[in-house]
Amino acid sequence: MSELSATQEEFRAQVARFVEAEISPHATAWDRDESQHTYPMHLFKTLGDLGWLGVGFSESLGGSGGGPVERCVMFEELARGSAGAALGIYVHTSLAAAGLARVADPELIERFVPGLLAGDITGAWAYAEPDSGADVTQVRLAAKRDGDNFVLNGSKMYITNATFADLILVVARTSEEPGKLRGLSVFAIDGDSEGLTRTKMAKLGMRPSELAELHFDDCVVGADRLVGELDGGFRQCLAVLSEGRVFAGALALGLGRAALDAAVAHVGTREQFGAPLAAKQAVRLTIGEMTARLRAVRHLVYSAADKLDRGEAYDTDASIAKLVSSETATWVSERCLHLHGANGYMLDSPAQRFYRDCKINEWGEGANELQREMIFEAVARGYQP
Ligand SMILES: Cc1cc2nc3c(=O)[nH]c(=O)nc-3n(C[C@H](O)[C@H](O)[C@H](O)COP(=O)(O)OP(=O)(O)OC[C@H]3O[C@@H](n4cnc5c(N)ncnc54)[C@H](O)[C@@H]3O)c2cc1C
Repeated sequence: MSELSATQEEFRAQVARFVEAEISPHATAWDRDESQHTYPMHLFKTLGDLGWLGVGFSESLGGSGGGPVERCVMFEELARGSAGAALGIYVHTSLAAAGLARVADPELIERFVPGLLAGDITGAWAYAEPDSGADVTQVRLAAKRDGDNFVLNGSKMYITNATFADLILVVARTSEEPGKLRGLSVFAIDGDSEGLTRTKMAKLGMRPSELAELHFDDCVVGADRLVGELDGGFRQCLAVLSEGRVFAGALALGLGRAALDAAVAHVGTREQFGAPLAAKQAVRLTIGEMTARLRAVRHLVYSAADKLDRGEAYDTDASIAKLVSSETATWVSERCLHLHGANGYMLDSPAQRFYRDCKINEWGEGANELQREMIFEAVARGYQP
């Protein structure tokens, strides 16, 4: 993959300046808001006004142009400031808005996508359930046809943004039994629908983001809210998640870079045995290894984004990017905490925050075991690394 163009570098600098001024100074406070796990809601409107929610979306939809590379730049930089804040924006744009824009009827797209990209309304994407995690075919939330409507009954778990989202894209079972690839459909449901109860969940990391458990009790949704093909939701889900892996990879890269920066700053100033820790060879080798791994991740993420942009087959590259990026972020964050010693263990240290924030990237957008399986299948078909 070639390096970023001058325009893309300027965009990176612009986002980095914003993050330094508007996100980094608040990241610890947002993380420490333990009683609420409350999302900094103003970010939706601010990023909407800047045109950044619309990066990678066409101007006809209210987007601001650019493509997957620019969107990766944005998530990488946002996650350097606060991975939790970046997660809320990621779900809103790359799962909810993109999920709609990809396959919905023009009427549904026109009704919701411009509002999502402007930050006037907020979005969530819900497929996980108590019995359906990595295995999407196990989705049980039932959507039964009733005239011009569908009636939903069942639950969703661990849904980012769903506590407050105006619009939730919900994967539901419209036919067949759990375990089948067909029979799933996606619905765009109002967050304040009658019959829908949303309960906030407390979590280990990504604390500025909000997570909800959803209960649908005879929740009625019009058939005009069906997103894409009836019973074809499994393939839609795979497509949204496959694209999402590229951006989730960028988010993990940003988190890893934040951990590297914190580690370098700490070992440069913390003195033990009469010299900064950075004078010790073991420490220097660790920093060298962290840097090398993140550099490799950068190439994987941006080359997958490049392929997506050029309309080439990118699924396996997206799996590899998400797999390596997430595991590198976890490794780098753990090393960062290790190098900080007790200082990093304190709740006002960013080091422990990175350590708690990183883990979800290994399961989100498909567990890494599934990525390895898919990479194996691609190799068996002739994929060359
Ligand atoms: C902070 C956070 C935000 C989230 N946001 C959303 C959201 O917005 N929308 C949404 O739908 N979901 C969301 N999720 C849920 C996420 O989709 C699930 O975590 C994911 O699908 C994995 O499911 P699970 O956690 O139930 O793990 P399980 O599927 O139960 O897996 C448990 C363990 O088994 C491993 N495993 C799974 N399959 C295999 C296999 N085939 N071979 C070997 N090992 C395997 C997994 O890697 C994991 O280690 C979120 C979760 C968190 C924690």
